[in-house]
Amino acid sequence: MSELRLREDLSAIPDYKPGKATAHTAPEVPVYKVSSNENPYPPLPSVASAIADRITLVNRYPETAATALTSMLCARFDVTPANVVLGSGSVEVVSQLMRATAGEGDEVIFAWRSFEAYPMLVRAAGATPVAVALTTDHRHDLDAMREAITDRTRLIIVCNPNNPTGTTIGAEELTAFLDAVPGDITVVIDEAYVHFNERADSPSGIEYFRRYANVAVAHTFSKAYGLAGLRIGYAIAPERLANALRKVAIPFGVTDLAQAAAVASLHAEEELSARVADLVTERERVVAAFLAAGIALPETQANFVWVPFGDATTAAAELLERHGLLVRPFAGEGFRVTIAEREANDLLVALAPELAALVS
Ligand code: PMP
Repeated sequence: MSELRLREDLSAIPDYKPGKATAHTAPEVPVYKVSSNENPYPPLPSVASAIADRITLVNRYPETAATALTSMLCARFDVTPANVVLGSGSVEVVSQLMRATAGEGDEVIFAWRSFEAYPMLVRAAGATPVAVALTTDHRHDLDAMREAITDRTRLIIVCNPNNPTGTTIGAEELTAFLDAVPGDITVVIDEAYVHFNERADSPSGIEYFRRYANVAVAHTFSKAYGLAGLRIGYAIAPERLANALRKVAIPFGVTDLAQAAAVASLHAEEELSARVADLVTERERVVAAFLAAGIALPETQANFVWVPFGDATTAAAELLERHGLLVRPFAGEGFRVTIAEREANDLLVALAPELAALVS
């Protein structure tokens, strides 16, 4: 039998590994999935009913223009509909940006370690990933990213706050960086975790979109708004770029249910912000417990904590898993744990001294 002929360059993309089940966990232990930076709160009643109201319409294709949501986003950011592009999660928006700017032989620069999907999506677009190591304190090395620019560079991704380290970029360093990037290279600021960022001198991606003609911003409803399962995100982009993104977008990729939930969430901003504030308070509680136990951490401004445990990472993840906490380990580097429901955070706090013993 002959083998199917697939694109050979796809062999460079590792197989996707979903978060695993509960191999090391005793069945009587409650299990908390703290591996995907999800929001632990269920949808608000107003959001759930906006979704339910649309259920009887699912025999129809979604409204591609997403008029209601687009006009709310335009009012919020003072942009025009020509600047707004929706996607099936911001991961699709990032993928659109790659497919619209980079093809075979072109390069896409991003920090590493960062969002795991970046190198996979770059390769899927047929382009070449250029991963620039983080600084030793787990931050974007913007100088090295600038030095990595070649005449093949088409897109640069700046992830602020960065996944999985939670570290942020200051306004001054971002300005210096963007001043140095040639104007024909697109820079996307991925702000998936922006709502959790309390750093005083943090740049607002939208302000940078206004100031630089080559800057786009990617936002999601998955994290602060708690709609990860509905898959909806958006880009705010210069008009010409936005137009190109629409060309490569999946047709009907954003459902009416997702659009309605997003609109209802924007209407419920106050309640959702209170939830975000709670998660930030919980984050600080967990961080304080880790620091008190003697565990060194980079400052996180996201809804997760990065614990750089090096060689002890796998042992730490197994210990946490035995207690029902399913974290995201990167062997030899560290693990990322999401700030979740109070019981999960309590467990983390209680286990901090045991974790510290693994590295002392
Ligand atoms: N960007 C970053 C930095 C992320 O961590 C994630 C999700 N983990 C995304 C984008 C994509 O989120 P979604 O597709 O759910 O909007």
